[in-house]
Amino acid sequence: MMIKNLLLVSFFTLLTFKLAIAEVFPTASPVPGGIAIIKLDHDFNNQSKVYFWKKRILTRKVNNSWQALVGLPLKIKAGAHKIKIINAQGKKYFQEFSVHTKDYETRHITIKNKRMVSPTKKDIERHYKEKPLIIAALKTWTENSNIQTNFIHPVNGRFSSIFGLKRIYNNQKRIRRHTGLDIAAPTGTAIISPAKGKVIRTGSYFFTGNTVFIDHGQGLISMYCHLDKTNVKAGQELTQGQNIGTVGMTGRVSGPHLHWVVSLNNTKVDPKLFISKNNAEK
Ligand SMILES: [Zn+2]
Repeated sequence: MMIKNLLLVSFFTLLTFKLAIAEVFPTASPVPGGIAIIKLDHDFNNQSKVYFWKKRILTRKVNNSWQALVGLPLKIKAGAHKIKIINAQGKKYFQEFSVHTKDYETRHITIKNKRMVSPTKKDIERHYKEKPLIIAALKTWTENSNIQTNFIHPVNGRFSSIFGLKRIYNNQKRIRRHTGLDIAAPTGTAIISPAKGKVIRTGSYFFTGNTVFIDHGQGLISMYCHLDKTNVKAGQELTQGQNIGTVGMTGRVSGPHLHWVVSLNNTKVDPKLFISKNNAEK
């Protein structure tokens, strides 16, 4: 009897503890490459629409209040910005929010395969054929009022390159921004879908290699690059944790890793904002 009570007490303690630390993701980070979470006023309902830079914005209801989740481009200037809201009656109004500055590191990278740094004319032609397909996938908008925004890690591995880095390849003058999060893991390591969604497309591209695009709803898209094997097909519905493929080094890479992209309102944002620090780097 004593043991039973003790177990019951520990169970409730654990439950309370779990509820107390339950966080809602993504984490707000109103900086270039981050996400602004804007509380919408009482007039807002599920018929209202939000826009930023002419793009539809994800909205959701948390604890009975509506909020807009705005993906902020790396090129956005710090200061005041506004979202446009069109309510159910078609009335337009604006709500202001602030963007703060963020300094991103610069890193020099040497790639031995010259063709990857300075692609040939043929490579560039191939890239220009592929580019519209990638752009179209990232632009996907599907109505969905039940989006899973608390992601789990897509792969077990070390974060080898963070989002937003300013990269200079082989001492070239051009600075390229790293618009994903790299997770290093051996070739063949399983990659899982961090949240429920639907596969938009899969393909093999010059820069990103074997790639999978997942639509999580309302402009929240995730992209998985350089895969060795792809285990899903376009149109397939995915549950959180479902295997989508394996880590590889296809496309422009210097070693096996997952280049993970998260896009919100067709804007690449820091994937780390969608995952808990508690189950971070393993
Ligand atoms: Zn990367």
